[in-house]
Amino acid sequence: MLVAGNWKSNKSFNEAQEFAHAFARFPKAPLGVEVMVAPPAPYLAALGTKGVPFLLGAQNVSSTGPGAQTGEFTADMLSGCGVTDVIVGHSERRDGHGDDDDRVAEKVNRVLDAGLRVVFCCGESLHDRQSDVHFDKVLRQLESGVLHLSAEVMSRVVVAYEPIWAIGTGLTATALQAQEMHAAIRQWLSEAYDTDIAKRIPLLYGGSCKPSNADELFACQDVDGGLIGGASLDPESFQALVEAAGRAVMNREKPKA
Ligand code: PEP
Repeated sequence: MLVAGNWKSNKSFNEAQEFAHAFARFPKAPLGVEVMVAPPAPYLAALGTKGVPFLLGAQNVSSTGPGAQTGEFTADMLSGCGVTDVIVGHSERRDGHGDDDDRVAEKVNRVLDAGLRVVFCCGESLHDRQSDVHFDKVLRQLESGVLHLSAEVMSRVVVAYEPIWAIGTGLTATALQAQEMHAAIRQWLSEAYDTDIAKRIPLLYGGSCKPSNADELFACQDVDGGLIGGASLDPESFQALVEAAGRAVMNREKPKA
């Protein structure tokens, strides 16, 4: 299970440090649960140097290498700051910042070439869902974003299914909606690669996941954790999500009666 926080453009640097201190006082993540937080980019180097009680993620990366690219930061630069994971293809970047399918695929390549793990986001709009094209939409995003990758690098790919209508809206996909999309993604991965690879790729759910609905979502067979926006900003609620993931791991390990 992976519980990943996406702080977006929130928190001052002091607040980010306070979060790290508060989070360090909680018990270590349960066995089988990884915790990652993606703070705003300007804080990454300092947090990476000080050491934080979670894996350090970036919310964005340049689609190019080093050179005359004012304002961009490369995957290698992130790696040098202690970043392990990079979120690519988030709907807020696809819709508002020009990350079309081609650019998303380039960013995926850059992240993997730098030896980092990519958290590849996909998800449908409300209109897509109401028009019953949500499966096609998500699988097309996967096709253009990851199908070109070798089986070898797929071990550093995480897929986050984030229905756009559920992001930051308080609306959450039902466990059934999440499970059926995750199962479709798993099936697509097993056809594109093989069942072993498909089984090993963590599939995160994102979209108003919070302590009150995490147990139900994480209990779904093909949900391997969450990409968490709003509920990752407060250390207590983020910790509650980490504990929910721990319960899901325990329940999965229980022998079936
Ligand atoms: C997100 O932005 O990735 C996200 C899932 O946000 P929220 O949890 O606030 O819906």
